[in-house]
Amino acid sequence: MTTTSSGSLGSILELVRSGRARTRGDVQALTGLSRSTLALRMTQLMEAGYLREAGQIAGSAGRPAKIISFDESRQLVLAVDLGAAHAHVALIDGGGLILMEATSSLRIDAGPDEVLRYVSRRLTELLARSGRSLSEVAGVGVGIPGPVRFTTQRPNNPPLMPGWHDFPVAQRLSDVLGLPVFVDNDANLMGLGEARARYPDSPSVLFVKVGTGIGAGVILHGQAERGVSGGAGDIGHIRIMPAGQGRLCTCGAVGCLATEASGGAVARQLMEAGIPASTPDDVARLVAENNLTAIELLQRAGRLLGDVLATSVALLNPAAVVLGGSLTASGGDRLLEAVRETVLARTVSLANRELTIARSILGSDAAVQGARHLVIDQTFSPSAIDARFEQLSANA
Ligand SMILES: [Zn+2]
Repeated sequence: MTTTSSGSLGSILELVRSGRARTRGDVQALTGLSRSTLALRMTQLMEAGYLREAGQIAGSAGRPAKIISFDESRQLVLAVDLGAAHAHVALIDGGGLILMEATSSLRIDAGPDEVLRYVSRRLTELLARSGRSLSEVAGVGVGIPGPVRFTTQRPNNPPLMPGWHDFPVAQRLSDVLGLPVFVDNDANLMGLGEARARYPDSPSVLFVKVGTGIGAGVILHGQAERGVSGGAGDIGHIRIMPAGQGRLCTCGAVGCLATEASGGAVARQLMEAGIPASTPDDVARLVAENNLTAIELLQRAGRLLGDVLATSVALLNPAAVVLGGSLTASGGDRLLEAVRETVLARTVSLANRELTIARSILGSDAAVQGARHLVIDQTFSPSAIDARFEQLSANA
């Protein structure tokens, strides 16, 4: 092993969290710290409750080494997944166990004041019902169905969310709850959850959410790539229809992918064909009931989506394209098949030979699991941990 770490408290925790160091010996080899300095720092991290020793590995020589691990279960996260018409809130431990959750109807277009007041009330209730205390919660992670400028933690021109542009979402919730709050696009969080759970060693994973709208999360080396203004992965507003054709989109343009291939678009197309459907869930139900018009429209949506995704596959050469969102919930195999056929027909084998195109395994939990990773990554980053210990020693 070569020395690759600064050896600060935060960077030692990072070595253990990432799985690169499993014993004191590993930490010593990776940091080059002296035995006494290392012993002091390990004691500080254990006393703070971040690390613990559990089990032993039999060494090739001498006494067995104790395994050190990040004590995930002691860190709790409040996770929020806001869709166009629903709110899913969950209390999750750092290891991913959902301790308590609730889902309810909530219209995001009611505006930030009303929605965030409702969300903070639900989170407070959830924590009270669980019998856990605020001091056990590391932070709150929130996914919203629109682009987020990550540096400011504010929505950036979200088409489905009138009144939310540049609203201080994280600040507002943090003021009410007294916890650190992190906000990201929902497809980014779903992609993060899915990539960490299923493709942890893959350099790139593309997650596509097909619900009321269409959005994608680009996960590179285990982290969401957000682009310069939070717009990375916003494929729903690529214009796919020839000039003069297509529908007016919520973004103000005409003929976007979302106006033709989203769950909302397919529901509208069904209504126009005289079949009652108003939500992506209605579409999924009709497909599961073998309604031929619904199946044809879903397959058309899959081909249009596949056309756009073929370019993304050629650009990224991802290990996986994962489809999630309410349109993929039931009857989603037909959508998946149409996407797969189109992507494979339009890309070269170098780009698609090792490509998996699959449905989300986390389903409706993908976003809250991603929110958990976001909060743990942010609150346990080396710089955040070093800053916390500096604060502690300044107060001592
Ligand atoms: Zn649009």
